[in-house]
Amino acid sequence: MNEPRIAVIGAGISGICMGVALRRNGFRHFTIYEKAAGYGGTWHANTYPGLTCDVPSRYYQFTFAMNPDWSRLYSAGSEIRDYLAATARAHGLHEHTIFGAEVTAAEFADDGWTLTTSGGAVERFDFVLCATGFLHRPRRPDIAGLDDFAGVLVHSARWDHGVDLTGRRVGVIGTGSTGTQLVSELAGRVARVVMFQRTPQWILPTVNRAYSDLTKGVYRRFPRLGGLAYRMNRAVFGIFSRGLTHPGRVRRLIQWVVLRNLRTVRDETLRAKLTPDYQAMCKRLVVSDRFYEVVQRPDVELVTESIDHVQDSGVVTADGTLHELDVLVLATGFDSHAYMRPMTVTGTAGRTLDAAWAAGPRAFEGVMLPGFPNLFMLIGPHSPFANHPLTAVAEAQAARIVSWLCRWRAGEFTTVAPTAAATDRFNARMRAAAPDTVWTTGCQSWYLGKDGLPELWPWSPSAYEKLIRSAPDPVDYELGPPVPSEK
Ligand code: NAP
Repeated sequence: MNEPRIAVIGAGISGICMGVALRRNGFRHFTIYEKAAGYGGTWHANTYPGLTCDVPSRYYQFTFAMNPDWSRLYSAGSEIRDYLAATARAHGLHEHTIFGAEVTAAEFADDGWTLTTSGGAVERFDFVLCATGFLHRPRRPDIAGLDDFAGVLVHSARWDHGVDLTGRRVGVIGTGSTGTQLVSELAGRVARVVMFQRTPQWILPTVNRAYSDLTKGVYRRFPRLGGLAYRMNRAVFGIFSRGLTHPGRVRRLIQWVVLRNLRTVRDETLRAKLTPDYQAMCKRLVVSDRFYEVVQRPDVELVTESIDHVQDSGVVTADGTLHELDVLVLATGFDSHAYMRPMTVTGTAGRTLDAAWAAGPRAFEGVMLPGFPNLFMLIGPHSPFANHPLTAVAEAQAARIVSWLCRWRAGEFTTVAPTAAATDRFNARMRAAAPDTVWTTGCQSWYLGKDGLPELWPWSPSAYEKLIRSAPDPVDYELGPPVPSEK
């Protein structure tokens, strides 16, 4: 039997999930390239104070590695990173993983891929599986004078733990999940927090309770409970996702909940500043049990005047006010449309990924690209589903990829790629469904592409999983000739 040589790029959630699926299906000739020094992807790179996952841990985990020992309903980033690393090691992925190896180029020729790493290594593979995620390129805002700042300037995704924040005045630019978590955590620990808000966010209230030793013991003793909790969470998220993709009762209910939460802000002027002018969930919903309480503290200031520029001593807003700061944090998110870039990817006829995606990232069913044979993506375009956990999506995509690899191993084809027509049809269907989604109801967000339409799958996550777990329709693919047995 032919054994494919496989490269997995990235050792975050989807890379680990893919690696486990490969081993479980008997594939042994694979290498996982990871640019960082450890497992975890975004959970390895992000270490800012207060980092917490906003999906319950009993759902934000792999079904093949249920952890009974989660410490809280919503776990801290470090706990998730440790869980991912432990899962990778438990499944033998350390034998396959090269850390500190960034793949800089991937080029298709002669029915295979040539990869080049930043260290200069060059390797040939039959398949490339991109598990690069979409939250790995920090976005630096286009604000004049950022480099003139004389204090400490840091992006939330590149936290500098050497900086002592005690007694410091800290500015945070951004009001997304990251900015909200940072402000909630820093208030009271530093001299003063100034939050620069361009757009207010709706906040879904929650309670992040800790699990007692007794609860953990019960989950350990009765492993099926983990599966039950997973399915219950899945059902709740299924209802939630209905609100994302269809107008109606769920959307109205969530709007009512976030509005009630906002009313816990007592000061009317502050409440008005914190009130969004768009529907809840249009931007990715922020989940917090503390933010509104914290933002009312006397040592926290919410600045809504737009930023004019940054100078050595702080941030100057459009009204001419200088906000003096010692530390300035950019909680300004990521270039979420980059996916595997800045890696240079070159498919058939020398066509690059940048050229193929000139109008924005387009993929077939979220996992493949026309003109890029034997290249698969996990958590690629159209697969992030707002607040839905990516663990579940990655498991379904890994299963689809394995099914293609098994067919290659059986000698059915040398190369596989979706047709351009199938990809266009898939994207046209998605775009036709976009107006029903909450993401098109009048806000700016990283969900939207260059044409103003969401790049996200516009139906339920379970519909996606059903699609991707079903047998591929042969008419959608171009297959190369069978694999010669000596290959
Ligand atoms: P984000 O949601 O993209 O938010 C970026 C923030 O920066 C926004 O408030 C944006 O304002 C602001 N901003 C950007 N450029 C600016 C400028 N020039 N001047 C002023 N403000 C500016 O980024 P994020 O909070 O880092 O979150 C990114 C994603 O990471 C999330 O959506 C989520 O998927 C993930 N995340 C998840 C968790 C979790 O718990 N699972 C936690 C943290 C992050 P505008 O709104 O006006 O653009």
